[in-house]
Amino acid sequence: MTHNILVLPGDGIGPEIVTEAEKVLQAADVKFNLGLNITSALVGGSAIDVTGGPLPEATLDAAKAADAILLGAVGGPKWDGLDMAIRPEKGLLGLRSNLKLFGNLRPAILYPQLADASSLKPEIVSGLDILIVRELTGGIYFGQPRGIRVLDNGERQGYNTYIYAESEIRRIGKVAFEAARARGGKLCSVDKANVLEVTVLWREIMDEMATDYPDVELSHMYVDNAAMQLVRAPKQFDVMVTGNMFGDILSDAAAMLTGSIGMLPSASLDEAGKGMYEPCHGSAPDIAGQGKANPLATILSAAMMLRYTLNEGAAADAIETAVSVVLDQGLRTADISANGMQTVDTKTMGDAVVSALVNG
Ligand code: NAD
Repeated sequence: MTHNILVLPGDGIGPEIVTEAEKVLQAADVKFNLGLNITSALVGGSAIDVTGGPLPEATLDAAKAADAILLGAVGGPKWDGLDMAIRPEKGLLGLRSNLKLFGNLRPAILYPQLADASSLKPEIVSGLDILIVRELTGGIYFGQPRGIRVLDNGERQGYNTYIYAESEIRRIGKVAFEAARARGGKLCSVDKANVLEVTVLWREIMDEMATDYPDVELSHMYVDNAAMQLVRAPKQFDVMVTGNMFGDILSDAAAMLTGSIGMLPSASLDEAGKGMYEPCHGSAPDIAGQGKANPLATILSAAMMLRYTLNEGAAADAIETAVSVVLDQGLRTADISANGMQTVDTKTMGDAVVSALVNG
């Protein structure tokens, strides 16, 4: 069986970090006989430079045809002056909407070796391993009607609509329950059911779905309490599931618990489990081309791709273990180096993960 993977390096540090992730995927391919077929295409600013637009038709076609997509990052000052409609970020949004990637998986993992990088006390965050499942294509960010109108008294009023259809709740619920089943078996659904009817329905549907997942322990939490618990005792969580807006905010808070943006992978999935995988960070133009970028978030995104879309869990585990091994060996790029530890460049870090994977 062949797995067709489309690689979209993008801009800034994108090509540097994707190169390292590709090396790791190729090593995993050899070790686990995965049958990977990796091709690449243009997206973002680099696509604008060549074709005039951030998401060329050839890229979209290749993305639709691929089993999974690995993206670096897009954007940079070179394209900041362009019209909003053809900015690099539109390439990313176009991929998400065309591929109907409604399920956003954002793990917040703090490797014990990096506990000093967090702004919280090491004992609170060391070993943290949370997965936030965020609904990505619905809720208040997309609900109609929306706008700014002028009232009869001449005052302006802004309004949005927080709306979820039952089917939208069920499909993100399924992603979350299945992720919880594959991890620690605990799912916390976050809502504001004491105030918002849309989340009363959300809660009802999660409860209904729980009967199909007797092996998953479902709990509910109001979003204000969830924010508080994330910074008070984050290790109580395994998987959290929530709507678009709450997920936007909570996933950033959870990400920062780990203190290092260069370590955080993410996935965006469609209904069939096909996905686009990318680091949570941007294209870091301030360090692009200098060999300073941390490739681990992209390498960990590749591991997520193997686990969630390609069903190659053993290879995913082996990549994650290899990352842990290089951290144990004391290798640090500048963003995760603490207490004057010696730093390594992007390529050295990628090579070390390959070597730990091959020898693991
Ligand atoms: P950023 O995430 O690119 O950078 C923020 C800071 O983190 C910078 O100091 C950067 O050097 C550092 N950093 C980021 N990734 C790193 C890594 N792997 N290793 C080491 N250090 C790293 O965010 P920004 O500066 O706000 O945005 C820069 C560009 O990226 C903008 O054009 C923005 O639109 C774009 N962006 C793209 C995405 C995406 O493609 N998904 C996401 C966010 C921002």
